[in-house]
Amino acid sequence: MLSELDNQRYLRNILMPEIGEEGQIKLLNSKVLVIGAGGLGSSILFYLSACGIGNIGIVDDDKVELSNLQRQIIHNENDLDNFKVASAKQKILALNSQLKIDIYPCRADYDNLESIAKNYDLVIDASDNFYTRFVINKICHHLRKPMIYGAVKGFVGQVSVFKSYCDNNPCYGCFNPNQTDKNFDLPLSQKGIIGAVAGNIGTLQAISAIKEILQIGEDLVGKIIHHDFLKNNFRKITLRKNPSCKICNDH
Ligand SMILES: [Zn+2]
Repeated sequence: MLSELDNQRYLRNILMPEIGEEGQIKLLNSKVLVIGAGGLGSSILFYLSACGIGNIGIVDDDKVELSNLQRQIIHNENDLDNFKVASAKQKILALNSQLKIDIYPCRADYDNLESIAKNYDLVIDASDNFYTRFVINKICHHLRKPMIYGAVKGFVGQVSVFKSYCDNNPCYGCFNPNQTDKNFDLPLSQKGIIGAVAGNIGTLQAISAIKEILQIGEDLVGKIIHHDFLKNNFRKITLRKNPSCKICNDH
């Protein structure tokens, strides 16, 4: 049973037949890990906490810099030089003080992510680099946890859901076989991004996470949404498992 205050706070969720009181209780009991508290993470974290995802973990080893504020709207000028995870936790607890927020001021890697991610129902990839994305993909495949993928560049963004551990579904590695090493980084000249594009893609990831928890609607497993905001070209593309993928053909 929800308390009277919860009934008030989450009224607009509960009014939807797809959610109701039962769905709201599911959301409050769910555990979501968000990797990255930057441009994607800002909108993901705000919307997940507003809708009552009861347990949220945040992984990020970066500190807030002035050049982040153009898009990472969960941080502000008072947060400069502070850890992004601490800044994000403060903002979302101000929005919804009931939530349990765990922060991990470290870089997600093969040697630490498994022990963190095993405590969560699903993992949202809000990272900004290929290496971390491959780490998340491999660990999610191994732990059999859904990975809600999002990526942005310039005016373009993508969203998908990977559940490569079941039903012959593809993993991120099937879609992008170009594994990169730890030191790989795009040149700064290729790192331009419109803040609102990151916010939009992060919002789509938050919606996908909520649907996954509630098991409602159509998911994005085996599909990728590709939005080009400059051309107003919005597409949904089918993804297939790559039979020679080294990551998800291990069983
Ligand atoms: Zn694969």
